[in-house]
Amino acid sequence: MKDNLKSIRHDWTKDELLGIYNKPLLTLVFEAAAVHRQWHPAEEVQLSTLLSVKTGGCPEDCSYCGQAARYHTDIEVQALLPTATVVAHAKRAKDSGSTRFCMAAAWREVRDNRDFDRIIEMVKEVNALGLEVCCTLGMLTESQARRLQEAGLYAYNHNLDTSEEYYDEIISTRTFDNRVKTITNVRNAGITVCSGGIIGLGESKTDRIAMLCTLASMEKHPESVPINALARVKGTPLENNPKVDIWDMVRMIATARIAMPASMVRLSAGRLEMDEVEQAWCFMAGANSIFTGERERLLVTPNPSISDDLDMLARLGLKPMGKGW
Ligand code: SF4
Repeated sequence: MKDNLKSIRHDWTKDELLGIYNKPLLTLVFEAAAVHRQWHPAEEVQLSTLLSVKTGGCPEDCSYCGQAARYHTDIEVQALLPTATVVAHAKRAKDSGSTRFCMAAAWREVRDNRDFDRIIEMVKEVNALGLEVCCTLGMLTESQARRLQEAGLYAYNHNLDTSEEYYDEIISTRTFDNRVKTITNVRNAGITVCSGGIIGLGESKTDRIAMLCTLASMEKHPESVPINALARVKGTPLENNPKVDIWDMVRMIATARIAMPASMVRLSAGRLEMDEVEQAWCFMAGANSIFTGERERLLVTPNPSISDDLDMLARLGLKPMGKGW
């Protein structure tokens, strides 16, 4: 793959990406599948486990999120989990076939306090298990990113969520630039970047493409690009949005795969509303990772269980990917 790295483009225009997104569906999927096969073992899907280590009570106002304190949702607030509990979850995830373990805390930003010291401890211990350790903790300074890197953090997730133009419609408590700044801090600290977005927020096709274009124009593409379908959480402003059309999801995945060929494209939230055939289309379009969550949850929304996922992969002739990419 290294020889191919020079062929990766960072100068995509929105028009070009829109042209790709709008291709006849079968042509688009065929082309994305060819790129996928050129860059990745097409029969392998990485299993990543996501654990909420601190849930709810978040001061931000992301309209899609049930963890924002200001919305009246059924989500129970939970303080930062003890390190031993997190490590036990990570061990179980590894035993079930996950190679990546992501710890999520519903914070606006990381503060240099005792809780951050505990996250550092968790990163060290999960890293020692031989898993790719990922965190998603909100905004981060470069010095905090360096501390995480020194502790063994492999990846940091910070999604763009949507386009710069549509951002204010979805979140008012921070800016798109804040988002990009954290991603830069992560990159400067030598941590790999996990950044993608959500569709189904009421955005236009142009917004979807603009978001992909921001990611695909980065000097180094995010190594991991999660594509999420809105999980409609009762009590949030977007609870009544229409269900995301599967073909929109397939088009997003295929466009991300073509624009960022070396990246892992992650079929993320919203899988519970997709049947196996629909998920197979997403794999065909170039998705090569899924998130699994313990207790059949992805953070705070329902998700298939890991055993259902393993059965599905077996039926599709796919297998869990080994560590690294
Ligand atoms: S998405 Fe993250 S930052 Fe936004 S409200 Fe939810 S937990 Fe807070």
